[in-house]
Amino acid sequence: MTDIAGWSARHGKLVRLDRDVLLADELSCSRAWVIAHSEFELPADVEARLEVSAQRLLAGESLAYIRGWKEFRGLRFGVSPAVLVPRPETELLVETCLERAQPGDHILDLGTGSGAIAVSLVHARPDLRLTATDVSSLAVEQARSNARGLGVNVEFTLGDWFAPFAEQPQAFDIVVSNPPYIAAGHHALESLKTEPYQALVSGTDGLDAIKHIVTHAPHYVRRWLLVEHGFDQGDAARRLMSEVGFTNVETLNDLAGLPRVTCGQRP
Ligand code: SAM
Ligand code: GLN
Repeated sequence: MTDIAGWSARHGKLVRLDRDVLLADELSCSRAWVIAHSEFELPADVEARLEVSAQRLLAGESLAYIRGWKEFRGLRFGVSPAVLVPRPETELLVETCLERAQPGDHILDLGTGSGAIAVSLVHARPDLRLTATDVSSLAVEQARSNARGLGVNVEFTLGDWFAPFAEQPQAFDIVVSNPPYIAAGHHALESLKTEPYQALVSGTDGLDAIKHIVTHAPHYVRRWLLVEHGFDQGDAARRLMSEVGFTNVETLNDLAGLPRVTCGQRP
């Protein structure tokens, strides 16, 4: 038999928070309980399952995939390795959109992944009408399941960026997107190996998707385009938006103080 203290010591290589979360999940208790009961003897079946999870973490998998969910803006989003794990910096995109959305606006979320952006928007503001797309059918399925589970209505479509809406000019008051924006071969990808490549990487400079979205947006957007990007891509995003005629173009910083979301308005 192994107690919590012994198991934790044996897995000293894991981040303490991750270790405590695994224990709390398996024992269906709080992290505080885990910390206060280091002498608790782990049942053999629990220990066996913990071992599998520990090996997955050591292999570099995200804790969110092991648990099967990730919190975003206080909501629980189911995640599988078919979707990017929602990031805290993306909350800035949602908040910026909520500030600019007028009652009843029709909003499009491009590259919805787990549905984190679209679902949070309509959860916060049920007056908004949300459409969301992704090129991955597994992502659309995951997002649809999250919308259903959280009791909100989002219209989902499978397709390549704006392609499903080619016959609908000026259909959206606001278009938001957190597209892939990492450059192929970038060293950051080393620690992101278990997330979908097509959710992360976009061409040799990371800007292919942003360029495509910004240059096609004027045909679809009535008021605002809001795009998340890498901390060093703010200049490029502003230049691209200005080139295709957006006005009031500005870049907002995330909680870490890094340029993260660029906004442009239709004249
Ligand atoms: N919106 C989610 C979020 O913020 O957590 C996921 C963002 S992830 C960085 C980018 C998403 O864009 C992925 O789900 C990926 O499948 C999708 N994507 C990649 N290429 C696409 C394309 N050509 N058309 C539509 N979606 C695409
Ligand atoms: N923000 C993610 C990361 O660097 C990247 C997601 C993206 O490419 N949109 O971990």
